[in-house]
Amino acid sequence: MDYDFDVAVIGAGPAGSTAAYLLNKSGFNVVIIDKSFFPRDKLCGGLITVKTLKFLERIYQDNEESLIKNDIINFSTNKFYFLNKKKKLEDGFTKIPTHFVERIIYDKHLLDKAIDSGVKIIYGEEVKKIDLETNKIVTSNGDTIHSKYIIGADGANSVVRKEFERKDLIDKNYWLSNLGFALETFVDKEKISIDKDTMYLFFGYIKIGYIWIFPNKEKAVIGAGGLLKNLDGNDLKDVISKFLLSYGVDKNTVEKCIKNIKGHPIPFGNFIRNPAHKNVVLIGDAAGFVNPITGEGIYYAHKSAELAAEAIIKDHKKQGILEEEYIKNINMFIIHELSKILKSRGLYFKFFNNYYLAKTLMYLMFRKINYV
Ligand SMILES: Cc1cc2nc3c(=O)[nH]c(=O)nc-3n(C[C@H](O)[C@H](O)[C@H](O)COP(=O)(O)OP(=O)(O)OC[C@H]3O[C@@H](n4cnc5c(N)ncnc54)[C@H](O)[C@@H]3O)c2cc1C
Repeated sequence: MDYDFDVAVIGAGPAGSTAAYLLNKSGFNVVIIDKSFFPRDKLCGGLITVKTLKFLERIYQDNEESLIKNDIINFSTNKFYFLNKKKKLEDGFTKIPTHFVERIIYDKHLLDKAIDSGVKIIYGEEVKKIDLETNKIVTSNGDTIHSKYIIGADGANSVVRKEFERKDLIDKNYWLSNLGFALETFVDKEKISIDKDTMYLFFGYIKIGYIWIFPNKEKAVIGAGGLLKNLDGNDLKDVISKFLLSYGVDKNTVEKCIKNIKGHPIPFGNFIRNPAHKNVVLIGDAAGFVNPITGEGIYYAHKSAELAAEAIIKDHKKQGILEEEYIKNINMFIIHELSKILKSRGLYFKFFNNYYLAKTLMYLMFRKINYV
């Protein structure tokens, strides 16, 4: 089939759904194409920070209370504990609770908002080819989609970004230099000797990265991640396995956890400074917008979607300014912040001991923000 739209968004994660929702509300005829059928899961710790909550409230009028009531937020806690191996670095109560979502629910919730507002969706078709000059998209079913604008919201393995690389608009080695990788599994809360309601971060196991335990209603999500160039997938499995044994998880359960383990790349400081070409832009993980210390990406997926939507709306009124507008927007609201964090990351992990790293993480994760 042949389709024509004003905007084609590739990927229905938090980035794609938000961009589609905002552009549709501004009168554009928008389609989202996703290779999965929804609800689909996405490997993620599901921690959403205060700034994400503020964003959801401002854009969708979803507040903390409604998100909890509708089971979009799975678990909330005020308790945190940061350690260097077994040594306590920081613990305490945060004034504002930290919330955890399950991505299978969270992403469907956001996609439903887009669909309810009138966005069209093509499920279960993978985008195979994309022409950055003519804006022609070809899917795995052989469908072709033409659109004035294309938004690449297709995550860390983005095919749209690979097309940028193929055309030398982005350097592939730059992307690989700060690419991260993370493994995640889960364990029954009763099987591990930790406080069941506390979120934990453990340093000292991974050179530039950390292990986390995030509490959910029924289970504890356990993950480990860091800079890919310093890691070996099997070593990371071994790190998790030894870690679980050291926290009293029995051998059989550890084996089960390792069997359930999944891995996924995560941008970890490889944010792209010029993720735009003519009428095509990259947002979210596809553009590498993830905090290079905490690994927080959900907020930046939402925010870059809003910035891309604003740039497209302006370009529609005054042709030919999309690249300039989008790059200006992301510089101001995303790149400036991520660059500062990346610059100091080496110091925190190598020299400042984990005490200052813990303080920085507290600031990055729990700080109160008035406007996002
Ligand atoms: C283990 C792990 C833990 C994490 N924990 C957290 C956390 O606790 N908090 C946090 O804020 N961030 C976390 N992150 C980061 C967060 O998951 C990402 O930053 C976020 O998902 C980015 O959203 P996105 O919409 O850009 O991409 P995604 O959520 O990856 O969505 C991309 C979508 O594109 C679709 N797609 C991909 N390729 C194609 C194609 N060719 N054709 C059609 N569709 C395609 C996919 O099916 C998917 O639906 C974590 C990441 C990892 C790996």
